[in-house]
Amino acid sequence: MSKLKKWKNLIISPRSCIPAIAGPTACCYNGGIRHERSCPILKTILVVEDEPAIARVLAAYLRKAGFGVKLAADGRQALELFSQEPPALLLLDVMLPHIDGWEVLRRIRETSSCPIIMLTARDGIDDRLTGLNGGADDYMPKPFIPEEVIARVQAVLRRPSQWTDGARQRRFGRLGIDFLAHRVTLNGAEVTFMPRDLAVLLYLAEHPNRTFTREQLIENVWGTDYEGSDRAVDLSIKRIRQALSHWPVEEGEIRTLRGTGYQFWIEN
Ligand code: CA
Repeated sequence: MSKLKKWKNLIISPRSCIPAIAGPTACCYNGGIRHERSCPILKTILVVEDEPAIARVLAAYLRKAGFGVKLAADGRQALELFSQEPPALLLLDVMLPHIDGWEVLRRIRETSSCPIIMLTARDGIDDRLTGLNGGADDYMPKPFIPEEVIARVQAVLRRPSQWTDGARQRRFGRLGIDFLAHRVTLNGAEVTFMPRDLAVLLYLAEHPNRTFTREQLIENVWGTDYEGSDRAVDLSIKRIRQALSHWPVEEGEIRTLRGTGYQFWIEN
């Protein structure tokens, strides 16, 4: 395949093939070589693309913009990497060897609400609707400008959460909550709670970034006939935190506001 043909799906900045976009400078590296106190944890993007030239350019632009990058060259490898460690977002090509992008999207959506942007050579409205109805968060027709892909990635990640299925399921990064089924998943695996703890978590998660006192939680969640002490709320929160210990803190956490109460904090 000629070099020119390999680049057919990509519009490269006329000045150079080297990414020169403006973006946050990463102050820590994946290998842990350099760390600074204020260093944010890198969000990892899984790029699923079978055209090596496109994958390389996307990876270079994403790294320049401060993201960690993993590459998968086909659908099977994408599902393997996803099951090992779900990324912050997937850039998913449609035409892939072994398992195509639609099938990868379908299988991931069975267990996860991880943000997914579809990359495809086709730009028909039918494909766009297939992608969006199948649970994709956005759609990027080829040929694309790498800067625009990065902007879309950042825009999707800036959304604090995504509602799906009649607004009863919500995700907070790797944490997914189905408020109707009272089901909580973390990294695609179900997390079980005592009924009283689950009620506290659901209530806090329905009101992100709002602080509730112990008394409010008892009254609003457990009911006014509850006769336990405030200490029971502290113990409940402790168990919830333990159960969610693998939820990355940059995505959210149950915060204690000294002298006030607790809140389900997520990044806005
Ligand atoms: Ca392809």
